[in-house]
Amino acid sequence: MTSRPDELAGNLAAVRERIDAAATAAGRPAGDIELVVVTKYFPASDVDHLVDLGVRHIGENKDQEARAKVGELARRDEVTVHFIGQLQSKKVGHVAAYADVVQSVDRPKIVRALDRGAERAGRRLDVLVQVALDAADGRGGAQPDDVGSLADLVGEAGHLHLRGVMAVAPREGDPRAAFARLRSVADGIRARHPEATWVSAGMSGDLEEAVAEGATHLRVGTAILGTRPPLG
Ligand SMILES: *Cc1c(COP(=O)(O)O)cnc(C)c1O
Repeated sequence: MTSRPDELAGNLAAVRERIDAAATAAGRPAGDIELVVVTKYFPASDVDHLVDLGVRHIGENKDQEARAKVGELARRDEVTVHFIGQLQSKKVGHVAAYADVVQSVDRPKIVRALDRGAERAGRRLDVLVQVALDAADGRGGAQPDDVGSLADLVGEAGHLHLRGVMAVAPREGDPRAAFARLRSVADGIRARHPEATWVSAGMSGDLEEAVAEGATHLRVGTAILGTRPPLG
């Protein structure tokens, strides 16, 4: 039987090869693309193995699970923790205490609560505004027309640092076309906020399309960790 570290190493190498190939096809340096390994539903021991394998960015999407797991990490200081899940304003204060990057900010109430939480925790957080690429999808995110004002609000918040935009491709339709829409939203934000250069897009099934449309951050779970176990 393959050990868990060996399994993770093999999967990680395969994903890195996919990223390199996609970057080459797009004429981009692979070094411009950050891999965020989504470790939700998997234990802190897997994160520790991933850190041993050189992973420096992890993504989590549930507050309670993430908070406990981050507290257990052997080498917490070496990883950047990205919160990528839907946010509730009453829980945002917790997230501000352990996440380094919050990718899923999608409404003014969350901006205010996150800024207060970061202030209380004595931290400054990197923030992405999540963009809804399909109005009917219900996967979170601000409507494209609202992203500009939300980005301005993040830009004005004293304890938040606007870094760019994030999106999940709609369940239906061509991911490349969806990521092209995200790219144009990102370009509009960057015109007003030059420091907002990050575009977080692309998961296990569509990372090539995201790289082709300029993603700077990929969020990959299943292709590295395997099929998620049921929570509980
Ligand atoms: C779970 C999750 C991912 C990772 O998806 P995979 O298909 O497992 O790679 C990426 N982004 C978000 C927002 C997620 O919740």
